Formats: sequence, C-alpha cells, structure tokens
Amino acid sequence: MSKKQFKAESKKLLDMMINSIYTHKEIFLRELISNASDAIDKLYFRSLTDNSVGLDKSDFRITITPDKDARTITIEDNGCGMTADELENNLGTIAKSGSLDFKKNMDEKSDVEIIGQFGVGFYSAFMISDKVTVLSRAFGEDSANLWVSEGAEGYTIEPAQKDSAGTVITLYVKEDTENDKYGEFLDTYRISAIIRKYSDYIRYPITMDVETSQPVEGKEGEYETVIETRTLNSMIPLWRKNKNEITADEYDAFYQDKFFDFEKPAKVVHSKVEGQATYDALLFIPKRAPYDYYTKNYEKGLQLYSNGVLIMDKCPDLLPDYFSFVKGLVDSADLSLNISREVLQHDHQLKLIAKTIEKKIKSELQNMLKNDRETYEEFFKSFGMQMKFGIYESYGAHKDALKDLIMFVSSYEDKLSTLSEYVERMKDGQDKIYYACGETKAKIDMLPQVEAVKDKGYEILYFTDNVDEFAIQMLMAYDDKHFVNVCADKLDLDTDAEKEELKKENEDAKDMLTKMKEALGDSVTEVRFTNALKNHPACLTSEGMLSTEMEKVLNAMPGANGVKAETVLEINASHPISDKLRNLDDETLEKYAKLLYMQARLISGLSIEDPAEFSALISELMIR
Ligand code: ADP
Repeated sequence: MSKKQFKAESKKLLDMMINSIYTHKEIFLRELISNASDAIDKLYFRSLTDNSVGLDKSDFRITITPDKDARTITIEDNGCGMTADELENNLGTIAKSGSLDFKKNMDEKSDVEIIGQFGVGFYSAFMISDKVTVLSRAFGEDSANLWVSEGAEGYTIEPAQKDSAGTVITLYVKEDTENDKYGEFLDTYRISAIIRKYSDYIRYPITMDVETSQPVEGKEGEYETVIETRTLNSMIPLWRKNKNEITADEYDAFYQDKFFDFEKPAKVVHSKVEGQATYDALLFIPKRAPYDYYTKNYEKGLQLYSNGVLIMDKCPDLLPDYFSFVKGLVDSADLSLNISREVLQHDHQLKLIAKTIEKKIKSELQNMLKNDRETYEEFFKSFGMQMKFGIYESYGAHKDALKDLIMFVSSYEDKLSTLSEYVERMKDGQDKIYYACGETKAKIDMLPQVEAVKDKGYEILYFTDNVDEFAIQMLMAYDDKHFVNVCADKLDLDTDAEKEELKKENEDAKDMLTKMKEALGDSVTEVRFTNALKNHPACLTSEGMLSTEMEKVLNAMPGANGVKAETVLEINASHPISDKLRNLDDETLEKYAKLLYMQARLISGLSIEDPAEFSALISELMIR
C-alpha cells in the first residue's frame, strides 16, 4: 500500500496546525463535532424520505471516548460516512473552494488568522495528535475504509470492517511537553467543559461514559465506581435561549465557530420579534472583512431555520447588498419546512422579516457609531466601501438608509468624519461640502486646487476610494448642502472685485488663450486664467458630470473605451508664468501650452500621452 502525499496547500496548513499556539488547540473538538453533526444532518434528512436508513431522530448521536492508558480519544458518529473516494477527496485536500486565494494570502497573514478564516476543521486534529485514523462507512455501501495519517508525511487508505454507516475518528494524543500538557484533553472533566463551551447547541446528543463514585446500596460508607453515560450538550440552539441566560463569551464562541472567524464580532444583535412577523434573529457584525469579501465569490445571506430546523444555509433575500457583511440566522415558525428557493423569494412573511432586519441593522450601526466610535471606525474601514457602493448601485434609492453611516477622512484633524459632523463644522456662510479625489490623502494634498481651498480656511473631505465620488453624485447633497469637487466644479470663493478683475484679464488675453487652446487640440475645451490657485502654475479642471478622477476609474475597468472628462486648463493668474506667456512668440507659446498641460496632468495623477514629447520640450528649455 503506497503512501499518498497531501496537496501542497494542505501540507503547509498541516505544518501550521502542528505548530499552532497552545491556547487555540482545544478547538479541535469543536471542529470534529461540527463535522460529525453535519454528517448526521445529511443522513437524518435522508431518513425523512428513505425508510432504508432505519434510524429514528433519537437514534442519532455523537460519542466521545477518551482512553487515558492508550492516550487516544475517539469521536464517533452514525452519520452519512464517507466512501474511499470521499476520504481521499475530503481529507487529502483542504479549503477546496478557496484554495487559490488561500495560497495567495498565506504569506501575509498569521497562522491563527488563516485557521480562523478557513475553519479548516478536520486538520485541527493534528494540533493535539501525532497520528489520526478515520474509519468510515458510507451509507448505502457494504464495506468500510480506514484512512491513516501521521501528519505531514502523507496518508494511506485501506479497506476495513465496520458494522454500520458512520465515522470513527481516533486521535493519538501527543506526549506532554514542558509547555503543552496534551494529556489534559484525555480528561473527562476537561472534555465536558470544552463541549459545553463550543458545542452546546449541537442538535444531536454528544455522549461520553464518565466514571463516578456512588454509595453502595445497603453498605453505609462504602463507594463503588460506576460508569454513567452522560449527555454533555443541552442541544438547545443558542438563539432560542433567553438572552439573560447567554454570556458574551457564548455568543462570541458561537459566531466564531459557525461563521469561521478568528476574531470576535464587532456587534451581536439578538432579537426576538413578535407581531406581523414572528421570529428569532441572531445577527453578527464582523470586525473585519473575510478574505473574499470584495470578490464575486462572496455569497451574502443569513441561515434560515424553521422552528429550529435548518432550511437554507445562505438565504440572500434576507439581506440587502449594502449590508451583505452581516452574518447570522433567522428562525421563524411562520415558514414552511419544505419551501423551495423560488417560492421563498416571493414569500410575504420572508419579505416582512427582511425589512425589519434591515431596519434593525441600520439602527444598531447608528448606535455603534454614536456610542462606540472606535469599534465603528474599525468596522467602517472593512465594510464602508460596501455601503458606499450601496448608495451608488441603487441610483441613490437607498441613500437615506446609508447617508448617515458613511464616513470620509477630513482635513479637519485628519480623522474619519461623518457628513453630519462636517456640516456642523461648516464656516458661517459656507453652503457647500468640499471634497477632492485622489489615490491617497498625501497625493490629494498636493493638488493645486486643494491647497488653495484649504488656504481659504475650508475643510476638505478626501475621497480615496474609487467609489466615493460615484456615491456622492447619487447623494447630490447632504442636509441641502451640495457636494463640490474642488478640482472639477467652479468654486465661488472670490469676491466680486476679484471676479471682475479675472474676467478682464481673460478678455484681454483672449487671443493668446485661444492660441494655447488650439495648440492642445481636443485635449482641453478651453484655456483660461484662474484665481483658485496659490503656488502652482496650472491645473486641470473638469466640466460636466465626469471628473478627471472618474475618468481614471472608468478607464481602469475592463472593456473601457477611453472616456474622457471635459477638461479646462487653468493658469494661475498671479503666478509669474502668466506674465511670461504674454511675451512669447507663437511657436514658443505653443510649446509652453503643451508643457503646462502635461504638468497639470501629472499633478492630477493622470498619465501623459506622449512622454517623449514632454522630455524633448523640457530638454529644449534646459539648454536654452
Ligand atoms: P469542512 O468541514 O469545512 O468542509 P473539513 O476539513 O472539516 O472541512 O472536512 C472536510 C470534509 O470531510 C467535510 O466537508 C465532509 O464532507 C467530510 N467529513 C469530515 N468529517 C466527516 C464525518 N465525521 N462524516 C462524514 N464526512 C465528514
């Protein structure tokens, strides 16, 4: 029998498991019990329609057997079991769906984060064992198979005997070291505590034989050792218990176990609703986005239960896209057990539930923003972009739900600010909300127009996410204050006298400005003087709906066909360059126009079409 190698990623993960920090090791039991429970679910569902299963709901169980002398623990279930092929495919590879991303992220993340994100289940057995065997017989098959592995070396599979369907996993517990007392996992007291902590809600009994000392009947003062089979879990789903009976730790453990997060949630929302729609909901707002959150692989949805029985694992209709980060479940007696996906979508009851859930999430986020700013900001850094997309994608239809939840970094104290906070700080007479776009805050601060607006004492919001400006165009205004892109919109910061003077300057230089525009062809719609600049010689201003920043975003998308913002080249009227221009011959003026235009593009973070020409013009100037 030849030994098979684990797939590459599995091997790396195994190493991490084996070397993981001790305090996390106890979760191996939760992982194996959770697999056993899933396997029983499968056979149980089948038993509802297939008499040949021959088992009653009350027959299903998970049995834990520690053996201190042999230093083994077995976890046995009478679920669906695995065929030889399934043993091979399920236990020879890990993280099937996410394996590619997994590899990619591997180097950037700590091992605990990865273990948490993937819920790598079965492999956690190697955290406490140096050998693992899996004896399994699939339902419907006559024979069983034995999978054996001593860790990173690989595994073997051979035919074996087992009387009925199910799986027996045997862990050969490692020897104790100075720091790691693996032996404690063989202790019935410790095992009971771990199961109560992580697996209490499992819907099938988890039983273990426990030795107890009992008085001998009729013989006073004498005790004998009796073996008693105990059920270790309460089997009551956490969400069905009373809120005041549940500790914060229990909520957190439940979340981390069920939704594969290494971190505790930012917020737990447990609501019992009665009325038009009657349901229990247990919702979690994560702190950090899962590795695939902003990819199309991410599936939103809440688990849906009907009277404690799972009917759908990810019901997307319960969550709007802009709250797709919420994890959790809904349990309602109003829903029928055998409802199909299609029917469910149109279910009146489900719609009612979805609506109240959305309201609830919104108000919980608002509370968090108000009362726990630090956590909210952490949450927002992970999921804020999703809510901004929500405003944009719905053409603004959901802006009222979201406008008070979004934040931007502001030039006021360089911190995240809500729109209402910005409006509260507005100067007397200020009636616009100023923003500027760019890749980073530092780059935005270099934009000529930003410098000028900040210099006049106005606060600026930094738009560094691609979606920011698109979202804001859907909002249009906040509290009746319109949004103004300091690089795109005509700012009205000048006094009447200043305006008059500028107008005259532009008229007087009309011929020259026209020649400059002609030198630049279609690249700009106009060349003109401006008062809006402080130290920089020139800038680009866009006119119309499309800003230069949006041009960048749109052209970076697949299938882009070179959309162009309508841009105006503005020249700083008080910069020495404006006097210089007036004294140039036509040929030199043309070159200066090109140079100023290319400089302005570079400052805005746009590329120049003809870098060779740029270089030639600069050299010509240098040797002059
Ligand atoms: P996950 O549970 O996240 O899918 P695991 O590595 O824990 O990942 O398990 C891999 C697969 O092996 C499971 O999806 C399941 O198909 C199978 N499996 C694990 N344990 C059992 C079991 N006790 N009975 C039947 N199948 C199991």
